[in-house]
Amino acid sequence: MFYKKFIFFVIILFSASTTFSNETIFNGKFVQGGIVIGQNKLAKKVFFNKKIIQISKDGYFMFGFGRDYKSSSTLKIIKDSKDDILKYNFNIEKSIYKIEKISGLPNKMVTPGPEFYKKINEDRTLIKNSMNEKYVVDKFPLTFIKPTEGRISGIYGSQRILNGVKKNPHGGLDIAAPEGTPIKTMSDGKVLLAAKGLYYTGNIVIIDHGYDLQSMYIHMKDINIKKGDLVKQGQIIGTVGSTGRSTGPHLHWNVYWNKVRVNPEILLAISK
Ligand SMILES: [Zn+2]
Repeated sequence: MFYKKFIFFVIILFSASTTFSNETIFNGKFVQGGIVIGQNKLAKKVFFNKKIIQISKDGYFMFGFGRDYKSSSTLKIIKDSKDDILKYNFNIEKSIYKIEKISGLPNKMVTPGPEFYKKINEDRTLIKNSMNEKYVVDKFPLTFIKPTEGRISGIYGSQRILNGVKKNPHGGLDIAAPEGTPIKTMSDGKVLLAAKGLYYTGNIVIIDHGYDLQSMYIHMKDINIKKGDLVKQGQIIGTVGSTGRSTGPHLHWNVYWNKVRVNPEILLAISK
């Protein structure tokens, strides 16, 4: 996978005694689009870039970096007393993304007509509001599965230039598979949205896994679950389709940490 060629550097600064140096375990990629799972059994509070993040009873927590993340980040772990603090500075390695230029497309495929603006805005609000619903659970998501089997037809981060117009970067992983192929949830969670007929995404499911981790399944044909359902990892939530803005049957799969898209392939790679 493409990110393996990047070397990452971790600079660890301790304000407390170095006897604590081995007590935090990190599993993940300190790279743009990367996601990291940490564990410190003594942690009482964890701050990632000043944002307080949830810790499980076993001391697990999670953080991630968007596609264009700046170079550095900080992590602060507070233990029993206020003076017992661990500080980490991470250097986040740059990722290099693919540029895809497609020309000669009919213009209505590239830019939607004004008659669709209202619908597009309503869809955007629906997705945003759904993702704002927080699911709090103690069970930490440690393992992840690929939602469907098929050919990888689009990767995270690619910059698409259609008819010379720079579009939003591709934020997920495309898996091309025949229509009707089952789609499974990547990890346990709660369904935040299960809706049909959105302009861009078509039939869509959003699942919250706790710890600010969310997954999104787009262009589906059938949907088997409904908003509010608790789902188990591997449970079939629907099937592959080509609804919304799609040129053929495939699943577009997004993974978000703290509302920012991260690379689903990195998530699969850190799965235990
Ligand atoms: Zn896609």
